[in-house]
Amino acid sequence: SVAATPGSVLVIGLGRFGGAVADSLVRLGHEVLAIDEDAAIVQSWATRLTHVVQADTTNVDTLKRLGVGEFERAVVAIGTDIEASLMTVLALSELRVPDIWAKALGDKHGRLLERTGAHHVIYPEAAMGERVAHLVTGQMIDFIEFDDGFAIVKTRAPKESLNRTLAESALRSKYGVTVVGVKRPRTDFTYARPETVIQPGDLLIVSGATNLVERFAALE
Ligand code: ADP
Repeated sequence: SVAATPGSVLVIGLGRFGGAVADSLVRLGHEVLAIDEDAAIVQSWATRLTHVVQADTTNVDTLKRLGVGEFERAVVAIGTDIEASLMTVLALSELRVPDIWAKALGDKHGRLLERTGAHHVIYPEAAMGERVAHLVTGQMIDFIEFDDGFAIVKTRAPKESLNRTLAESALRSKYGVTVVGVKRPRTDFTYARPETVIQPGDLLIVSGATNLVERFAALE
C-alpha cells in the first residue's frame, strides 16, 4: 500500500478523464495513487505514475488493504460502468474518506452519487458543452463559470471602450461587470486600472454575474 501524505490524492479509473486528472496532479507536484481494474491500462501508466495498482475498487476489503482509508481525497473517474462508480463511492464513504469527488455521466447518475456519499459531483461533458457554447460564437475567447452564477471571461474589447480610459467608458455602471485585466497582443497581461486606455485589439478579462458577463461579451 501507499502511505497517504498530506496533499496526496487517490484517483480511481484511468480512462480519459481520470488519466487527465492523474497527469495534472503529478504535474502540480502531488503524490497520486491510481487504481484501475484493467491490467493493460495499469501497465500503460506504470512509467508515468509512481503508484498504479490493478484492483477492483468496488470491493471494500481490497480498498482497505490498499490503505485507501488513509487518503484525505479521492477522485472516482469511473464513468461508463455506473454500478462500479456507485459501489466505489459507497466503499470510499464507508472508509470515511473525507473528500470524495466523482464524475457523473448525467443528472441521474449524479444524484445517485450524492446519495451514495460523494461530496463533489463533476459533470465533465455538460460543463464542457456549456463552455463550448460560449466559445463557439467567437464572442468569448475563454469562459469560466463558478457554481454561484459568477463568471470570468476573456473577450474582445467592445467598440465603445476603444481609445478611452476605463474610467471614461464606465463599463461597471453601464453593464454591471468589472474589467479585471487587459491583454494586449504581444505584451503581458496587466491589471486593469481606471486610467488604463483600451486599444483596438485588446482583450479584456471581465468578471461579474454570468448573465451580465454574457451580455457584455455580446457587445460589438
Ligand atoms: P472515460 O470516459 O473518462 O475514458 P471510462 O468510464 O471509459 O472513462 O473509464 C473508466 C476507467 O475505470 C476504465 O479504465 C476502467 O478500467 C476503470 N474501471 C471501471 N470499473 C472499475 C472498477 N470496478 N475498479 C477499478 N477500475 C474500474
